[in-house]
Amino acid sequence: MNTVRTVKVGGDYHYTIAIGADLLADGARLAHMLRGRHALVVSDGNIAPLYADRVEAALRAARPDLVLQRFVIPPGEQEKTLARFGECLEALASLGATRDATVLALGGGVVGDLAGFAAACWMRGIDCVQLPTSLLAMVDSSVGGKTAVDLPAGKNLVGAFHPPRAVIADTSTLRTLPDRELRAGLAEVVKYGAIFDAHFLHWIEGHAEALLARDEAALAHAIALSCEYKADVVARDPFEHGDRAMLNFGHTFGHAIESEQGYAGTTGEGLNHGEAVAVGMVLAARLATALGMAPTEDADRLQALLQRLGLPTAIPVGLAPESLLARMRLDKKADARGLRFVLWTGAGKACITSGVDEGAVLRV
Ligand code: NAD
Ligand code: ZN
Repeated sequence: MNTVRTVKVGGDYHYTIAIGADLLADGARLAHMLRGRHALVVSDGNIAPLYADRVEAALRAARPDLVLQRFVIPPGEQEKTLARFGECLEALASLGATRDATVLALGGGVVGDLAGFAAACWMRGIDCVQLPTSLLAMVDSSVGGKTAVDLPAGKNLVGAFHPPRAVIADTSTLRTLPDRELRAGLAEVVKYGAIFDAHFLHWIEGHAEALLARDEAALAHAIALSCEYKADVVARDPFEHGDRAMLNFGHTFGHAIESEQGYAGTTGEGLNHGEAVAVGMVLAARLATALGMAPTEDADRLQALLQRLGLPTAIPVGLAPESLLARMRLDKKADARGLRFVLWTGAGKACITSGVDEGAVLRV
């Protein structure tokens, strides 16, 4: 039996996340999300050859009148640019997309962010249906409505809040996801357990091998729970004025590592986002310990789990703590009161703290 789990994102921008096997072949489900006759499938050069035909055939069978085109970017973070964004808008123009057109973002977070931003801007905003194919996109980037492209000056500097019309996560696509990308997504899954739910964290500890072996039931459970936590925070704080910042656990350190390495993760020379967040979570847990806010055993436990999942837990050799600190001062998450961290205060708990002592950060 094919179980489809659904998670509802409430609040002012409600939509549904569907999670299950073979959902990309479910033409009726896909077509149900389209308001008009025009649809643009946006994807990348790794994913389009694997899944775009399937999506388009399913849609065409369900909606023979559909005007459907495909826009494919080369894979990688370095393609999340204003130039590709412009090309995506040109593709919408050549499709003849009207205000009731739909963008279908078929891919990982790069495609989701770029396609979502194009949908946010085309005719001041058309529907975007997220069809995430990476674990990271399923548990994080496709949910919540943050869309963006990068500038040479920094990541995600230009973007918009544009909640998707729906998220349809086909867990079967995870079979072709490279191992390293799977592990990167698992880092974000651990994040939800760590900050929101001690029981879930314990469950991940008990299912680490099943998750790494891509057991579909285990992955579907992990995705559904992660989405529930993300959906809950996003519904409470859609524009990231408060609570939503909890999701940045591990990200202050993580972003500093990523930017110090020049976002080399996608070319294999540095840590990718999930790996940097894994290191960042351990550092944020150690910082909480150093500030007397959490016992050492908790940080040890988090580190052990991340290591079992094949993730790095220490700052890569060659990166100087002082230069990472300098990066953190420039981070969007720093504010007038100084460095801002989400500190882990034990399984299922975390708090946002501003004005953290730089000396303590350097010692960690
Ligand atoms: P990605 O989109 O680059 O995908 C990772 C790699 O896996 C790519 O090479 C891609 O082609 C490949 N891939 C994806 N799915 C595949 C599949 N099923 N089979 C085979 N190959 C597959 O990266 P990502 O990790 O998915 O996302 C990272 C991006 O997401 C970053 O740009 C980050 O800024 C963004 N992000 C956004 C949010 C948000 O709230 N909008 C949150 C977190 C991350
Ligand atoms: Zn992240």
